[in-house]
Amino acid sequence: MIDPAVAYTEQLRRRADALATLCVHAGEAPAADGSLDPPIVMSSAFAFASAEHAARAFRGEEDAWIYGRWGNPTVAALESKLAALEGAEAACATASGMAAIAGAVLATCEAGDHVVAPRSMYAESARLFRERLPKLGIETTFVDGDATAYADAMNPRTRLLYVETPSNPTLGVVDIGAIAGLARDAPGRPAVLVDGTFATPFAQAPLAHGADLVVHSMTKGIGGHGDVIGGVVAGSAPRVAAVRDAVIKGFGGVLSPMSAWLVARGLRTFAIRQERACATAAALAAHLAGHPRVARVHHPSLSSHPGHALATRQMFAYGALLSFELAAGPGGGDVVRRGRDVLESLRVATHAVSLGDVRTLVVHPASTTHSTMPAEARRLAGIADGLLRVSCGLEGTADLVADFDRALG
Ligand SMILES: *Cc1c(COP(=O)(O)O)cnc(C)c1O
Repeated sequence: MIDPAVAYTEQLRRRADALATLCVHAGEAPAADGSLDPPIVMSSAFAFASAEHAARAFRGEEDAWIYGRWGNPTVAALESKLAALEGAEAACATASGMAAIAGAVLATCEAGDHVVAPRSMYAESARLFRERLPKLGIETTFVDGDATAYADAMNPRTRLLYVETPSNPTLGVVDIGAIAGLARDAPGRPAVLVDGTFATPFAQAPLAHGADLVVHSMTKGIGGHGDVIGGVVAGSAPRVAAVRDAVIKGFGGVLSPMSAWLVARGLRTFAIRQERACATAAALAAHLAGHPRVARVHHPSLSSHPGHALATRQMFAYGALLSFELAAGPGGGDVVRRGRDVLESLRVATHAVSLGDVRTLVVHPASTTHSTMPAEARRLAGIADGLLRVSCGLEGTADLVADFDRALG
């Protein structure tokens, strides 16, 4: 879906153009008082018009706002916007990305079920599958991201094929269509759940490739300003209803109206923010790939990246994240220490976790985000000790390139 014959910046502009109107207008209508910006409805409960109205609302015969955990107008408006951007029938906003992931998994699996999940993924998701789900009788087989490995790991009890693409932090690309094909052909018809946080709906549409559900941490590129925690699950109306019942009603992972308003505000500029951040990421990746102090750059835009061809077919853009490995210094030298020196020398980019912020954020996964992962699991997931992950923000591209050059030098 990325046309190698067209300049990448031109394709980013076209993708932004395709989404920009939805970003501004989807899920929004002037309020009763004429205010253009949707009100933040901070109410725990809503008055019934009559006893009959209350009874009908409780029987589900009439749409009504009843109680803030079951539904809120500000949150519902955000959900319409999210569904439109994802090309989904429905979307459910959640308190965080982890609430979305844990809720979607628990709405899909029960004791005795089996999951196939990738070795390389967001560290807290990895802990969910490795440490928490076994206590509930749900077992996971971890595989490399290719579809053959998923096929080999499946058994008659497999209920869920979990995918994260591009993956954290090495930007591995997984073939969503091939994995959806495996699910369709399997007797138990497992669900395919994609964590698309790194791509955002700007760069990828997992549902169009046959995924059943897509989850995002809205804390990242969707909210986009580094000022809110939230998550979303999108898919068909029945599947999203089941997730909503579990995550929101049952486990209480509800998004606050204030957070929903912040995310909706962030989404209005989503397309143009992503256009710019993705362009900067590709430029920085190309620059670092030619840098003598850099051993290896991971970004799907590079033809050297193992997921390049697949990303070109599957994605609208290569995303705003990259990672790179430092070269060993002149006399060998400790790459972990060199990584720390680079982090501490950056002046434009900020040393912080999270991603998808207006600020460029850089982390050293081995000592921070992925330190809870056993060293052997880190090695299998391809996370080198000298790896630095970069989430490109909205600063000037030339300023960022100069910042990395200075820090590396
Ligand atoms: C941040 C992140 C999550 C978790 O989201 P929270 O909003 O922090 O709960 C899950 N998956 C990926 C890929 C992430 O980057």
